[in-house]
Amino acid sequence: MKDIRIAIDGPSGAGKSTVARRIAEELGIIYLDTGAMYRAVALKAIRLGIDTKDHESISRIMPDIDISVGYHNGIQSIYLDGEDVSSAIRTNEVSMGASNVSAFPEVRTRLVALQQEIASDNPVVMDGRDIGTKVLPDAGLKIFLTASAEERARRRYLELQEKGLLDKTFDELVAEIEERDHNDSTREHSPLKKAEDAVVIDTTGKTIDEVVAIIMGMAEKRFG
Ligand code: C5P
Repeated sequence: MKDIRIAIDGPSGAGKSTVARRIAEELGIIYLDTGAMYRAVALKAIRLGIDTKDHESISRIMPDIDISVGYHNGIQSIYLDGEDVSSAIRTNEVSMGASNVSAFPEVRTRLVALQQEIASDNPVVMDGRDIGTKVLPDAGLKIFLTASAEERARRRYLELQEKGLLDKTFDELVAEIEERDHNDSTREHSPLKKAEDAVVIDTTGKTIDEVVAIIMGMAEKRFG
């Protein structure tokens, strides 16, 4: 079990976190949502009134940010300076901010080290953008989840609606998803890119159960 390392990468809204959480549950190992860490950095900047695109100011606050994760019944909570910010990081403003701060090497270096430290002690399913390429290059199973921009915006719309956080139209969400895709795949440091040895799964039109079953089948073959 100690050797189970599963990397799930892909663009925003492809279903990574839901799928990764389910896989971790079925295997009885921890799930690490790395996006939550980038979101926590963005939240800190927003609270300090700092523009999340301002490289110099973001680099300046990095040494003072305390980010940690905790688990209660297998569910991850993320802490910023000791405060549980698991809900506060889910707003649209923080989504865009996270995409901005994640372009800066000072932010990535710090968070990647934290992610690798967590994985060195635990079998893990990790989701993000650079897990298969950078964080866990030797992961035993690498998945790259995709879905069309419309499908991803539709899921995001329903999720925000459910949480009472809906403040955008569907078309605005499509535009935001496309902007984040562009930011994430064109940035200089660790752009969103499929690892050469990753298996691509297009989740458009597939249910969560179907995607989980496909990945569990692969996990059983690799680790079973
Ligand atoms: O996955 P999530 O949407 O929560 O991630 C928020 C943002 O954090 C992404 O748009 C991406 O820019 C960034 N991110 C990243 N590397 C990761 C995880 C997230 O750059 N491993």
